Amino acid sequence: MLTLWRNTAVATCDDQHRVFERGAIVTEADEIVWVGAEADLPAGVRPDRTIELAGRWLTPGLIDCHTHLVFAGQRAAEFAQRTAGTSYADIAREGGGILSTMRATRGASVDDLVRLSEPRLRSLCAEGVTTVEIKSGYGLEFEAERRMLLAARQLGQRAPATVVTSLLAAHAVPPGFQGRTEAYVELICRDWLPRLARESCPHPNPLPLAREREQRLVDMVDGYCESIAFSAAQCGQLFAAARALGLPVRLHTEQISNIGGSRMAAQHGALACDHLEYTREDDVIELARAGTVAVMLPIAWYVLADPQLPPIDLLRAHGVPMAVASDANPGSAPGASLQTAMHMARRSFGMTGAEVLDGVTRHAARALDLAATHGRLAPGYRADFAVWSVGSLDELGYWIGFNPCSMVVRHGEIVLERDV
Ligand SMILES: [Zn+2]
Repeated sequence: MLTLWRNTAVATCDDQHRVFERGAIVTEADEIVWVGAEADLPAGVRPDRTIELAGRWLTPGLIDCHTHLVFAGQRAAEFAQRTAGTSYADIAREGGGILSTMRATRGASVDDLVRLSEPRLRSLCAEGVTTVEIKSGYGLEFEAERRMLLAARQLGQRAPATVVTSLLAAHAVPPGFQGRTEAYVELICRDWLPRLARESCPHPNPLPLAREREQRLVDMVDGYCESIAFSAAQCGQLFAAARALGLPVRLHTEQISNIGGSRMAAQHGALACDHLEYTREDDVIELARAGTVAVMLPIAWYVLADPQLPPIDLLRAHGVPMAVASDANPGSAPGASLQTAMHMARRSFGMTGAEVLDGVTRHAARALDLAATHGRLAPGYRADFAVWSVGSLDELGYWIGFNPCSMVVRHGEIVLERDV
């Protein structure tokens, strides 16, 4: 079935950043087949269905390329401690932080996790998000990590979003391995990774992505390289094991210290490095050389009240692609709002509106190894888009607590409409 989406201002987010103020898109089933100025619509196009968009703006469906939205419990009491002056690192050392969410998550079934997490995912979907990365990392034992990944996959069937999963078993050192971090890393590399990498997914995305690995439980492997978590050498060992199994890698690093994480990740060809507040110019040069995406997480920066800003000017100067993500998690980024992250990336990090739009579309797709199919409006790409009741593109990442997204289209079908 051929669908014409007409009378819309189209921001393609393609390589030339083309915008068609009086634009149109033609989709066939789940794919875009034509994008351009409506006046240039080929004469032979005979749509089966025409959808009138009343001049509204249209962008690719947004991509939230870094979330921890599957978890149980909440950490409001720790938030109160932090606002009273206790640091995130001190809370973590006292067994709070990630370990407190681990205790709640270990006690939850897959069904519990799906039920608790679905509202968070739907909140992102309502903001125009059509692709979401979801990490494990609150289980920190084999079965609980696996349950988180199964829940993430089930969410991808229940909500109108393509879910990409990351195994983040190296998120924190679990109880039982204190002082034996190396033994924990060894266990993940030797046992958990091979088992999870082999496991096919009982809940694949409704429309398989281009890659066979989409039908697997794990799409990529992530780690937390910080003084309070894992060393660069330990994360390097994890990456080598992941890559030997054909899994791409990414890394949380340089959020509160610099122990060589981004440089190591670049050497392993990581898809993304996330946080990067403490990244230096020599690290940035390595990221640029490797083509690694720098994922900015301004909500976590804001909630932790860290005075150190990520080196946006250096990332820009060296041509490192920058993505922006919500980091939705119960500790440093409670809630689930990519639009809030977009606003903060502009206001607090000084990214431009155009950089932020790229950061939640084409660059975010690249961080998830989906650059050939997602994150831009071009023939051959997925027919995933968001329609905005705004007067200009500059309003994306401008509003706080007001959502101007009025329609979400996924795989060529309207999955959400809102009066705005
Ligand atoms: Zn994170």
